[in-house]
Amino acid sequence: MPTIDPGRVLRDLRHLKELAAYKTGVHRPSLSPQHVASMEWLKGELDALGHEATIDGIGNVFGFAPVNGRKLLGGSHLESQNHAGWLDGPLGVVYALEAARAVKADPELAGCAVDVVAWFDEEGHFGQFLGSRSGIGKVTDAEIDAATDRTTGTPLREALRSAGLEGRPRITVDAKRYVGFLEAHIEQGDWLETNGLKIGVVTAIVGSRNFRITFEGTQNHAGTTRMAIRRDAGVACARFINAIEALFPKLASSRTVWTTGRVTLLPGDPSVIPGRAEMLFQFRDTDVGALERLEAGLRDLVAKANSEGPCSVSLEQVRKGMPVQMHPAFQAATEAAAAALRPGCATRMPSGAGHDAQYVAEAMPAGMVFVPSIGGISHHWTENTTDEDIVFGAQVYADAAARLLKG
Ligand SMILES: [Zn+2]
Repeated sequence: MPTIDPGRVLRDLRHLKELAAYKTGVHRPSLSPQHVASMEWLKGELDALGHEATIDGIGNVFGFAPVNGRKLLGGSHLESQNHAGWLDGPLGVVYALEAARAVKADPELAGCAVDVVAWFDEEGHFGQFLGSRSGIGKVTDAEIDAATDRTTGTPLREALRSAGLEGRPRITVDAKRYVGFLEAHIEQGDWLETNGLKIGVVTAIVGSRNFRITFEGTQNHAGTTRMAIRRDAGVACARFINAIEALFPKLASSRTVWTTGRVTLLPGDPSVIPGRAEMLFQFRDTDVGALERLEAGLRDLVAKANSEGPCSVSLEQVRKGMPVQMHPAFQAATEAAAAALRPGCATRMPSGAGHDAQYVAEAMPAGMVFVPSIGGISHHWTENTTDEDIVFGAQVYADAAARLLKG
């Protein structure tokens, strides 16, 4: 089995953190100077390993091993959410890099290799999974032309030019080259920690259904309009959220999650009855049956609210993401690797968050492995994982890679 160097894994991760340090985490938005520095660091490490390393025209970093045997593609992303954690993304990149080194040093795996990728913009500063979708040939130049940074408004084309990437070709991965893609990631939830487990073998990545629900009432004076004749869109919205909370537990699976992420009342003044209210609502599950049940239930609530009045309600679906299953052979290899190192330390579990692997899975077999997040915290600078868990996960990842390479 390939043997990882624990000190090197931790040093690499801490180096990436220092390149973008913010409090105890990082601030590394896509194509920021900090992000570009981390991409160049990775390219340098891949060069040093003897991989053919390149940063392509959308900011994907690739390292291709010049060998003829079986190959696995491994990696994740380098950029972060604004003012966020140090492990979300870099953990999976460093695991793949370390597995590539360990596989190269293992005589039992001569001729085999782990190619490494850091997909661009998984965190969605400029769009939806632009790097991994570009890598499987699913991003058009027109989409890049139209993309802008959600925080600064900078066009993606301009940011690519500033980073020195303008005009470079975009690389589409050759799926036939690989046994598949393996992505490691922090769990970003508390399931592993709560259950005293060390490794999550991901079974599927949830599908998300997102809706904009709009309530139309009558805007009027908050002092002179009698309560009995009001058509208050804000009240209708609040009642609707309550109705969801009453209904969804009856329809949900044990892992369903649902969220009203934004409520807007218009015009939004203290002395004006809201004439219009809008809520952004989503739910996620790995089970298509549950998703269908919840959507039907939501549509029933809209119909009921419309028939009861006094406001009218409309529903617009803004996203219909399907759950993506992880490949059984990848689940089996990861589970066997974890069990061989520490029996009973792993569990199979879904991913409640989206990841690049869900897109790469369209092109080749894909799998994911989770390590614990302390307190289940992520997308915040206090995000962390113990050194011991980081190192253990790296060894499980390398062993899983070896099992997949041996076939
Ligand atoms: Zn991530």
